[in-house]
Amino acid sequence: MRKVRVDLPVNGYDITIGTGLDEELEEYTRAQRFSSKGLVVTDSNVGKIYTERVSAALQKAGVDVEFFTVQAGETSKSLEVAEKIYTRAIERGLDRHSPIFALGGGVVGDLTGFVAATYMRGVPFVQIATSLLAQVDSSVGGKVAVNHRLGKNMIGAFYQPKFVMIDLSFIETLPKREIYTGLGEIIKYGAIYDEAFFRYLEENTEKIQALAEASLEHIIGRSCEIKAEVVTQDEKENGLRRILNFGHTMAHAIEKETNYLRYNHGEAVAIGMCGAAYISREMGLLSEDDTERIVNLIKSLNLPTKADHCREEAIFESTLHDKKTVNGVVHWVLLDKIGHVSEVTEVPEETAKKCMRMILAE
Ligand code: ADP
Ligand code: ZN
Repeated sequence: MRKVRVDLPVNGYDITIGTGLDEELEEYTRAQRFSSKGLVVTDSNVGKIYTERVSAALQKAGVDVEFFTVQAGETSKSLEVAEKIYTRAIERGLDRHSPIFALGGGVVGDLTGFVAATYMRGVPFVQIATSLLAQVDSSVGGKVAVNHRLGKNMIGAFYQPKFVMIDLSFIETLPKREIYTGLGEIIKYGAIYDEAFFRYLEENTEKIQALAEASLEHIIGRSCEIKAEVVTQDEKENGLRRILNFGHTMAHAIEKETNYLRYNHGEAVAIGMCGAAYISREMGLLSEDDTERIVNLIKSLNLPTKADHCREEAIFESTLHDKKTVNGVVHWVLLDKIGHVSEVTEVPEETAKKCMRMILAE
């Protein structure tokens, strides 16, 4: 078992990573002295498999929970669904100390966190992260949100969970493609922050793909640690936290250009990291060798390195409108070596376009 402390000045919390954590969940929950009634939000896939197990652990902890199941998928991250959960919470008489648990991936985590942040101006939020992407990404950082029809994550807040539980056995039922999408973000942490971790990924691709427990625990734990280190230095996203955006400028453009349908997030990030590595090399920052290592690791973990169905002009235009673009200046998060970021704003248009062509399939 591994614990990662997210050491914020206020509202710091622990992430517990391991196998068979039911007792941990029970003990943690009991120790918090929550009100006796609570709510668990889950989705139609995860709920089917894990409701009984989680319900048993929470009952033992003395919390009487009801499960609220949303349809699996991004469309549930909406104000309409949030409203239904508020209604249920009020009807059930949840008070300011009633815990709300998220049991699911990123969608359930973001939605539930948003409800917990706003119901009665904030009630205790606990995250039981079941997808690899949620475990390494949304379990650290406190970003919670719902989508608006005009844009993703447009309505949200920063709200930290009381604790996060990551049981490795959840991964066994996760579809293969969802595992690879999580690996996209995991590669990112090595690339921006920790060469030794990057090397570990290179040297253990087989164990990782076989979901060997020790490897999973290490890659999830190390990813959470890196994100926690970055986030605790920059809780509200003013500076350092931007390095987490490596690969994301082009990823967001690709996701948008393919209507969020063709590639899931981690796949788009994988392609975007290749693009950012090429720009880094063109700008004379990153060596040929390191560029190749990034592309090769992405390939060997079954992630794409090129996007199809994308128009170069549309991708370029869309990077100019990225959320992280200020006054039309794209803040490219580039690398000067594996494990170290270099932020550059003056990438010539021609260079950016050339590298975009390299990640677009003919
Ligand atoms: P994210 O990739 O951000 O976590 P979702 O929350 O939509 O996005 O999760 C991805 C998909 O995986 C959803 O269909 C969800 O129901 C499913 N899922 C999440 N965790 C598990 C799990 N442990 N077992 C089976 N399916 C899961
Ligand atoms: Zn991401």
